[in-house]
Amino acid sequence: MIKINSDATCTLPYTRYLFEQDALKFPLGNHIYQTFKDRGLKAAFLQSHNRVTGIPGKTQAQAFVQGKNTLVIGVRKGLEFASCKPSAHFQLPLVTGCPGMCQYCYLNTNLGKKPYTRLYVNVDEILHKTESYIKARQPEITVFEASATADPVPVEHISGALFRAIVFFAGQEFGRLRLATKFPCPESILSAEHRGHTRIRYSLNTPAIIARYERRTPSLNERLDALGEVIKRGYPPGILLAPVFLEDGWEHEYLELLHLLKERLGLLTSAELHFEIISHRFTKRARQVIDQVFSGNQLPMDEEKGRRFKYGQFGYGKYIYTPDRLEEMKSFFSTNLPALFPQSVIEYMI
Ligand code: SF4
Repeated sequence: MIKINSDATCTLPYTRYLFEQDALKFPLGNHIYQTFKDRGLKAAFLQSHNRVTGIPGKTQAQAFVQGKNTLVIGVRKGLEFASCKPSAHFQLPLVTGCPGMCQYCYLNTNLGKKPYTRLYVNVDEILHKTESYIKARQPEITVFEASATADPVPVEHISGALFRAIVFFAGQEFGRLRLATKFPCPESILSAEHRGHTRIRYSLNTPAIIARYERRTPSLNERLDALGEVIKRGYPPGILLAPVFLEDGWEHEYLELLHLLKERLGLLTSAELHFEIISHRFTKRARQVIDQVFSGNQLPMDEEKGRRFKYGQFGYGKYIYTPDRLEEMKSFFSTNLPALFPQSVIEYMI
């Protein structure tokens, strides 16, 4: 059974804990509840899975912050996994949400006005379903993404779900797990038996972008330390450069970041680093929400400036950089990454 520990990753901003009644039917839900009680943490019960009530906030900005400060302990109801292109075949739904406050985050428009984090306590059921997806596709390898709708690491010290998933995938010949994070992994993950079946990727950006837009997340230095740790523990490593902003001086800033990465990883660069590069994009709706929630928002979101509109598969479109700008970005990374990291693999650039 997991322990709620007190390492650095646990200094989280949650001030409100809400339990679904059904969560106590599962040993993990019960364990979390008892532990909170022993620690004197106040927890309330929700009447329904579908209506999360009790989160205050008169303005949209207040509601957003209060949502970010709320953790729901619940049960995953639908056990069909969504697809997850381009990084994996399926999402692995262990957590939704994140306590971080990155201004550009796609969760800002996907999780409602009060974007609470919800962790799921029926981990056995979720992994059982995972096994059936793997069996249906074998002997093909099936890849699962644990970070499709969350950064799952910040609540790992409470749920232990990633640890369970990593150990589960270690035993799967035809299944692989991927997770992406900005937060340091707790020791339970670092020392888990993974057999190289889980790839841990760190989301990095330039110091200026982190300072300007990635609120309530670890610094670049902390992320580089954390990445070094997962490499030392033998995990297949990855780096997400996302979102890449192609604003004035971007080449210089990203080149500095790549040089710093090389310097900080030192000999560890012999590990096969996988890179995923995602240029910045936004929807009209995201722009409205961000403007209301983050006062003085300065994210570059001028539809007329170096952008084009692209229709998406769900009926709404987004503004992406123009083809010539994207070509500049692709050319920059496909020249500099192999030069600095000969062992690197660029998984995709979009
Ligand atoms: Fe979103 Fe990731 Fe930032 Fe969390 S850390 S707010 S998931 S971009």
